[in-house]
Amino acid sequence: MEIKVLLCNCKGLCPSFKNTDMNTLPFQLESELEVKYVMLHPMTCGQGGNQALMDVLQSAGEDTYVISAACAPVAQEKLFAKILRTTGFPPDRFIMVDIRGTDNDGILKRLRETIEGLLRRPSPTTAPAA
Ligand code: SF4
Repeated sequence: MEIKVLLCNCKGLCPSFKNTDMNTLPFQLESELEVKYVMLHPMTCGQGGNQALMDVLQSAGEDTYVISAACAPVAQEKLFAKILRTTGFPPDRFIMVDIRGTDNDGILKRLRETIEGLLRRPSPTTAPAA
């Protein structure tokens, strides 16, 4: 299993992210978590962010999980539904995490819990036991 994280900074304007240091967070997460990489985009739901997300999803292998760390999952579901449809990326490997209203350590904790949950899942490329 490989895990890629796409962090969103909500245009750098959202008060929900006021306690987050987005300059230090990507390295902090890469240092502490079992992830392939962390990518930061200022606005995942904007034109460039959509394209970056599509590139990540289209280049993903069968064992790749993509974590979108951004606003509420219920909002992300609407914002990214078209991209998931267009790319055909399996929704169960696209994990939406709410990173609002906390600080770097809080985001690290949320992502650690999410990743620990993913690592407990059986690998999609592992053949079922006979
Ligand atoms: S994806 Fe969510 S957090 Fe990111 S810019 Fe759009 S509304 Fe803001």
